Amino acid sequence: MTGRKRIVLAFMCMIMCVFCIAGAAACDTSSADDSHEWGAWVVSTQPTCEEEGVQTRECSLCGETEEKPVEALDHTGGVATCAHLAVCERCGESYARTPTIRR
Ligand SMILES: [Zn+2]
Ligand SMILES: [Zn+2]
Repeated sequence: MTGRKRIVLAFMCMIMCVFCIAGAAACDTSSADDSHEWGAWVVSTQPTCEEEGVQTRECSLCGETEEKPVEALDHTGGVATCAHLAVCERCGESYARTPTIRR
């Protein structure tokens, strides 16, 4: 084995090592940040016409839970007349139809 060949080999080895370390590091950061295995969203509190509900999901790896609100359903059905408000078919409350833009 000539000296030149040995240098080339050493160089190759070094490159391999750098790739190896870089690869491992990349692998680590990608799995450390977002390693949760979230299940499906499950509604834990049903929304009503006026109140938001709550849905949660759980990580199957660490058991951590995450919550997000479920949009309120809004009153529905019923017919408003000049004299009476519409009556909601879901909760039975009278309500004024507001065709204005919702928030
Ligand atoms: Zn987790
Ligand atoms: Zn209602």
